[in-house]
Amino acid sequence: MKKESSSKWTTDEIDYIKSCFKDGKRSKTNRMISMRLNRPISEVKNIVKRLKLAEGIENPLQSPKKEKAVGISFDDIKHNQCRAIISDDGEPCVFCGKKTVTGTSYCEEHKKKYFISVQRRKTMALIPASVS
Ligand SMILES: [Zn+2]
Repeated sequence: MKKESSSKWTTDEIDYIKSCFKDGKRSKTNRMISMRLNRPISEVKNIVKRLKLAEGIENPLQSPKKEKAVGISFDDIKHNQCRAIISDDGEPCVFCGKKTVTGTSYCEEHKKKYFISVQRRKTMALIPASVS
């Protein structure tokens, strides 16, 4: 079955979407945009894709990708690596080793475990480094 084609997008609507992508960040999710404009989310996605708005944009609104704990020994740990101890099998301490959140000794995941974040908004904008 063919989908009903919806009405044309107005310049104002397009401009609104563009305004949600500024300074290398997006301020609204596709869902938020679709609700605000009362448009199907699939169309919002299409527009975002067509205008290449999301290219090169980090998305702090989506939860960061789950990063696997590296598992490193104390000797190997660097100052920007998470110090949470993840070994629980009686071996010498193995530390998480994921990239730390600025200002803490823990990665995002362990920081959440150990602290009640009062700066959630700020930390949400932090993008975890990919492990290679
Ligand atoms: Zn960690």
